[in-house]
Amino acid sequence: MIVRFWGVRGSIPVPSKDTIKYGGNTTCIEVLTSEGNLIIIDAGTGIRVLGQQLMKEDFGHGKGVCHILFTHSHWDHIQGFPFFAPIFIGKRNKDGKIIKSSANRLHIYGSAESSKSIEDSLCGQMSDCYFPVKLSDLSVTISFTYINGKPIKIGKTKITTLPLRHPNGVLGYRIEDDGKVLTIATDCEHPENGECDPNLLVLADNSDLLVYDGQYTPEEYDPSKFNLSIPSKKGWGHSTAQEGIKAAIKANVKKLVITHHEPLHTDKMLSSMEKKAKKILPEIVFAREGMEFVL
Ligand SMILES: [Zn+2]
Ligand SMILES: [Zn+2]
Repeated sequence: MIVRFWGVRGSIPVPSKDTIKYGGNTTCIEVLTSEGNLIIIDAGTGIRVLGQQLMKEDFGHGKGVCHILFTHSHWDHIQGFPFFAPIFIGKRNKDGKIIKSSANRLHIYGSAESSKSIEDSLCGQMSDCYFPVKLSDLSVTISFTYINGKPIKIGKTKITTLPLRHPNGVLGYRIEDDGKVLTIATDCEHPENGECDPNLLVLADNSDLLVYDGQYTPEEYDPSKFNLSIPSKKGWGHSTAQEGIKAAIKANVKKLVITHHEPLHTDKMLSSMEKKAKKILPEIVFAREGMEFVL
């Protein structure tokens, strides 16, 4: 399994000379399974760049197939979708029906329990007041699958989900492929009682790679603990690298990748946070655009 990071920022894209090292695009992770199936986690603005890359091969000729797994529908996880070039490759016949042999195929997955379906969210952000092309006007074939707690399979790859703690809900993903385990836990907050989220521990158990939301420093997350008079980020649905380390150790994770970086954190700040975190757990790394892991 190959894991590549195309967007590692939380909340909003932040292109700037101060975000070059880690990157400014919002969440998008590419997973290539051992059988060659393409899985994409979330369609933040990083998916635009991935799309350009994909267009150089099968997707440029309407022969591409991919599986997009959405963790949830917050803006920073869907806003790149209308700019994902493969969605525009495909033709329709005189009757307006998509000619399947000419069109890329997208299999989209989202939570069955979300207040609004992922189809409605993607449709909404492409309605005419926001975007010139409607979802229903695209010539790709799109199927929607709603995950209801039961594991799903993509080829031989097994994908298990559990809800994590985030406003309006989020799915954590455990992806098992050819004996290796990747766990994606972005947009998740740790419980207040000092324990780890039990769902997170189940998903991350013995993972080769855990991708975890470390948007805040402990000081930003709970300033009152440090006698600081800045606004607290408790209840915003995000966590810290330190909480990620705690969970990674408990779940016997081999490597921990921190993602969903706070838009205000410059390269300099992220480097210093990463150095600090490495002193507690050497097997930690802060995600950067273009980073790749082979499991
Ligand atoms: Zn987010
Ligand atoms: Zn979110």
